[in-house]
Amino acid sequence: MASLVVAVVVIGAGGFAYLRSTGSPANAVGASSASASAAASAGLAVSATPRASATPEASASPSPTANPSPGSAPVSAIGFRPRATVVPMVFPLPAAARYRYGDGWLVPRVDRPYWYNEIRGVTSTGVLLRAHDGVDLQVALGTPVLASFDGTVVDPAHIWRPWLPSRYGNVVVIQSSEGTSLGYRSIAAHLSRLAVAVGDVVHRGQVVGWTGRSGNAAETIPHLHFELRAPFLIAVSYGGRTRRLDSFDPLPSLRACDPRLH
Ligand SMILES: [Zn+2]
Repeated sequence: MASLVVAVVVIGAGGFAYLRSTGSPANAVGASSASASAAASAGLAVSATPRASATPEASASPSPTANPSPGSAPVSAIGFRPRATVVPMVFPLPAAARYRYGDGWLVPRVDRPYWYNEIRGVTSTGVLLRAHDGVDLQVALGTPVLASFDGTVVDPAHIWRPWLPSRYGNVVVIQSSEGTSLGYRSIAAHLSRLAVAVGDVVHRGQVVGWTGRSGNAAETIPHLHFELRAPFLIAVSYGGRTRRLDSFDPLPSLRACDPRLH
């Protein structure tokens, strides 16, 4: 085999910067940038390099031009930028809805991560701490939730195990069948009611459910918890550990299709 290079950056104390972060997603962690080209051929995942300070591409207003392949989402982890990737899609809330952006990606959470959850740091005893895997869109209860792309409704319990209904509540997970986002998945969580079922074929903009407070959202400001998941795993290093997961920041994708911003 040809030489394979995996770009893994050990951040050491950087992991503890997470513990002190105040939860602003733009400042909590930088984008992976330098590691992209180092992951040579053969489909190896690229390491994201968490940093305590924001990089320009992490803090700038995301736009489609932030995508290394404008007009189409990346098809592999090579060159993948977790905080800058734009997946072409439809905003998950109606343009007429009143919404605001709440907690973002990597905001600290209190419990422990599973393999598919982002982490915000490692304690001195080596315990991983979970971070928020999505973006919260604060919006009135009962607001229609729209399909982000053409695709199929899939069962999260078959993809991310163990799946926790007690955390996510009622969800609609759509796996894209669109050529510019093939295989990407959106997760809409804490819904009150679903308009679709697993196996249904949906089209972008279709109402798939209504916002609610199911799962662990009972005590929060009413919001839609929205995640995007890649159809491949991206290596991320924290405190000397490397994890591979499909999570990335959905904010650039949301802003790129946010009807209020265009
Ligand atoms: Zn959330």
